[in-house]
Amino acid sequence: MKFGFYTLGCKVNLFETQALMRLAQARGHEICSRDADAFIINTCSVTAVSDHKNLRAFHKIRRENPRAVIAACGCFAQTEPDKLRATGEIDLICGTSARADVLALCEAAVAGRRETDLSRFRMPGRAFEPLPAGVPQGRTRALLKLEDGCDNYCAYCIIPYARGHVRSLPLAEAVHEAERLRDAGVHEIVLTGIEISSYGRDLDGQPTLTDAAETLCRAVPAVYFRLGSLEPRTVNADFCARLSALPNLRPHFHLSLQSGCDAVLARMKRRYDTAFFLERCRMLRAAFPDCSITTDLIVGFPGETEDEFAQTLAFLETCALSDVHVFPYSARPGTPAADMDGQIPQTEKEARAVRAKAVAARTARAYRLRFVGRTLNVLFEHRTPDGAWSGHSPYCFPVRASHPAIAKNRFVPVRITQVTEDGLSGTALL
Ligand code: SF4
Repeated sequence: MKFGFYTLGCKVNLFETQALMRLAQARGHEICSRDADAFIINTCSVTAVSDHKNLRAFHKIRRENPRAVIAACGCFAQTEPDKLRATGEIDLICGTSARADVLALCEAAVAGRRETDLSRFRMPGRAFEPLPAGVPQGRTRALLKLEDGCDNYCAYCIIPYARGHVRSLPLAEAVHEAERLRDAGVHEIVLTGIEISSYGRDLDGQPTLTDAAETLCRAVPAVYFRLGSLEPRTVNADFCARLSALPNLRPHFHLSLQSGCDAVLARMKRRYDTAFFLERCRMLRAAFPDCSITTDLIVGFPGETEDEFAQTLAFLETCALSDVHVFPYSARPGTPAADMDGQIPQTEKEARAVRAKAVAARTARAYRLRFVGRTLNVLFEHRTPDGAWSGHSPYCFPVRASHPAIAKNRFVPVRITQVTEDGLSGTALL
């Protein structure tokens, strides 16, 4: 049978799609991009904008695969099954639990054992569903999902309703997966999850994320590890002392900020203020010299005044972050923020996003400038349209270089000569 896959959304979805691909191949199926017998769409529901993207993807995939069984899983499928059914284009709805079952359901549907409703919609349980870690198509770095679910209930976010409670991959299994990836030739693993800062709270002995990162780095020293998105509370003296002693932990920390104004953070139901965030940045910089600190920022949250937004811009300057992903606030029906007074017009939200991106671009460029003249060991991944190569530095930005001996998944030292729009470029020392 031929299986097609399409992923929307975050790294966790990317992880889950690559896992389903591996499982499909293990069941003897072929992976294809057109004329599939079955097509699995891994949906995202982080904002209302993502919902539109899901619907567009369904139409396109149905057009290109008219006779395929189409299955939707993921957060949109979990939170909006009725909208999915209303499209008339989806045969199976599988949500965010029991992912691996979707393959068997597709096989049954293609074989004609079609029930009137094959949907397997249910709320995620308390158990972590182990899925094989691996490298997403076209990439070099593997994703290893340590955790699923979130119990934070930030005011703008639907994810706790889509993904359920925090549940974690036991440490011994995480080590086993990392060893398997190392044996398969993987050089770097990104530790991912929905809210990995809560890693381990459901496990016996309640190991922390610091325990997990330290254990993995020590158990598999030939592989580099990078942490996924962190809540600021994760960074403490213990985290900095223990993890800065590990030579194979990448010095890149994505600390979720969301707003640089305390009043907005309180309305968002985030559990820190700007002073706390800034202190955590200082601790990281003291423990990991030159580390990248990146973040996410939502602009135009309901009720955000011009003065509050100005506070955010000033805070971005103060933090001097290495990269900022800026999102205009997008109301997610079913969340408290969607019903708040003071919704900001779309044009204003977009204008604020442009202003925030301008500050972020300035601080990001200033951060990258310090690397000019230095040599970085780059893990190369893909060719750029102009025939050069692009790869991952130990930090947060890509590095470009050209040399006939550069190859995918190869480490090459690069002498940095230039800051580019999104990263750095230099000369391969081969
Ligand atoms: S921490 Fe907040 S923003 Fe992140 S997934 Fe949980 S509820 Fe959503």
